[in-house]
Amino acid sequence: LAESIKGATDLLSGKSRMTEANTKGALRDIRRALLDADVSKVVVDDLVERVTKNALGGEVTEGVDPSQRGVKIVYDELKRAMGGDDEALMSGGEGEQSVRAELEYREDGKPTVVLLCGLQGAGKTTAAAKLALRLQQEEGRKPLLVAADVYRPAAVEQLKLLGEQVGVPVYAEDFEPGQGNAVAIAERGLKEAQARDDVDVVVVDTAGRQVIEADLMRELRDVRQVTQPDETLLVLDAMTGQAAAGVAKQFDDAVPLTGAVLTKLDGDARGGAALSVRAVCGRPIKYVGVGERVQDLEPFFPARMASRILGMGDVVSLVEKAERLQSKDDAASQMERIVAGKATFDDFLEQTKMMASMGNLQNVAKMMPGMGGLDAGKLSEAEARIKIQESLIMSMTPAERRDPDLVIRSKSALSRQRRIARGAGRDADASRRFVSEFQQMRTMMQKMAAGQNPNAPPGPED
Ligand code: GDP
Ligand code: MG
Repeated sequence: LAESIKGATDLLSGKSRMTEANTKGALRDIRRALLDADVSKVVVDDLVERVTKNALGGEVTEGVDPSQRGVKIVYDELKRAMGGDDEALMSGGEGEQSVRAELEYREDGKPTVVLLCGLQGAGKTTAAAKLALRLQQEEGRKPLLVAADVYRPAAVEQLKLLGEQVGVPVYAEDFEPGQGNAVAIAERGLKEAQARDDVDVVVVDTAGRQVIEADLMRELRDVRQVTQPDETLLVLDAMTGQAAAGVAKQFDDAVPLTGAVLTKLDGDARGGAALSVRAVCGRPIKYVGVGERVQDLEPFFPARMASRILGMGDVVSLVEKAERLQSKDDAASQMERIVAGKATFDDFLEQTKMMASMGNLQNVAKMMPGMGGLDAGKLSEAEARIKIQESLIMSMTPAERRDPDLVIRSKSALSRQRRIARGAGRDADASRRFVSEFQQMRTMMQKMAAGQNPNAPPGPED
């Protein structure tokens, strides 16, 4: 028992208040996680500052370890910083199901124009095809792709092939190498779209360079001028890392962006770039690329990205569950009792129930950083033990549950234990063992509360 409950109490009690000291430790971890995730330093500093305020000033949820609480606050901030739940790309309601990571469509009958820009190799051409496919399949739109990258030798051919693959028409022109005019092509592409009645959205692919050059930006501005896009999306490689903020800034300065597509999230990138884009130009990530295939484009979910950026297992959902499941008032006094080594059987029952409703122990352990490696055999053993304990507590009287001493050390303790075992359909041993383990747990907590090492053997230094 001591073992199986230790995890739970560690998880649930911890130091149950957020102080400046323990918040600092949590924030240090979080700061490191964010920098590791390529969130730009300015953004991290800003975030940590807001979180500090929030954490120290805000309310404390009892029963949640402060460092986890810290993660939760950062998680909420991250989510908010990337679009949160109130972003225009949500259609209302809560949860990821209700997200419409959509484009703003025109309503005047003219085709909606989407201009893609970004560095070379970011995935613009691929994203153009992916987007066209998605708009067609998921949103019932009729797209036209426009090949306005006149620099990369094979760019036009690449887009034509992709267009064929996704079953979307491509507007492209033949030109001698070095002679293509992106602005003119974009303009004529748009004209074509307006003339066709099987087109209601135009996706314009443009050229990128390895570094941002003035002439390229000028061209991009001109393309924007003639096409008057409804959406100007920055296609950004998630691996860009810390440089993402600078890239976003330069493109946003040239052509005000309305959003971004973050590509190559199927790789190792942690996605901090998403946060940088948002922080720099205040516009949302609308889609993410998650593979090389044309169907590998997904709507962007701030919550998912926040988890990825934090990269701390699924701690956040664990904390959320804990918060949901424990009413605060109960939790406060319950925690005080548990931490003081005065837990009742009722407290114990509630804690184990909570663990159970959070999913079985295996899953709980998996969500905890560093606990994923817990031996499965040990875990299911613990689960079985908890089941037995539950049944024993259920067959106690309310008075016994409130006052464990009745079962532990009253005159009638032994007969009570036997009765409880019978009622639970267990043998007397089971109930004796549980009661003594329960008492051990309380003693351990009392020692901890008194500031002693609970594992130290009794001895001179004790
Ligand atoms: P562009 O220069 O911006 O037009 O980039 P491309 O569309 O030509 O893409 C450059 C490379 O990145 C190609 O090999 C693509 O297959 C690859 N790519 C694009 N998006 C993704 C993605 O989401 N995941 C992965 N793994 N590869 C991608
Ligand atoms: Mg391209």
